[in-house]
Amino acid sequence: MIPLTVKTRDKTQFIDITRAVQEKITAEDVGNGLCFLFVPHTTAGITINENADPTVQSDILNVLNKIIPWENNYKHLEGNSPAHVKSSIVGASEIIAVESGRLALGTWQGIYFCEFDGPRTRQVNIKFIKD
Ligand code: ZN
Repeated sequence: MIPLTVKTRDKTQFIDITRAVQEKITAEDVGNGLCFLFVPHTTAGITINENADPTVQSDILNVLNKIIPWENNYKHLEGNSPAHVKSSIVGASEIIAVESGRLALGTWQGIYFCEFDGPRTRQVNIKFIKD
C-alpha cells in the first residue's frame, strides 16, 4: 500500500489528485493493471469527474452542501454529521485501469479527493494490481 498525503484548506473542497496518482504509477512501474484508491476517513471521499472546467467541482459541492444542510437536528454529538453523510454518498474508493503506465481515464476525467470536514491533513491509500 502506498500512502498519498492530501492537505486540505477549506471546510468542503475538491482537490484534483490525478497528477499525484499518476506519479505513483510511474514510480512503481505499474505497466498494465489496476489502480485501487481508498480513502480511510469517515468525513471525506473520492470521486471521478470533469477536470476541464473547475466550475463543475464547485457546482457539485454547492449541490451537496444544499441537499445536506449544516443544521438538520443531527444527533451525532461531534457536530459533523453532514460530513459523514456526504462521505457515504460520494464513497470511499475508486478503481481505475492502468494501460501502458497511464491512468486509463476519459479525456475530461480527473480524480478528486473530496474534503467534507476540513481543513485537515488526509491520506489516500493506493494499491496496484499488475497484470
Ligand atoms: Zn463525526
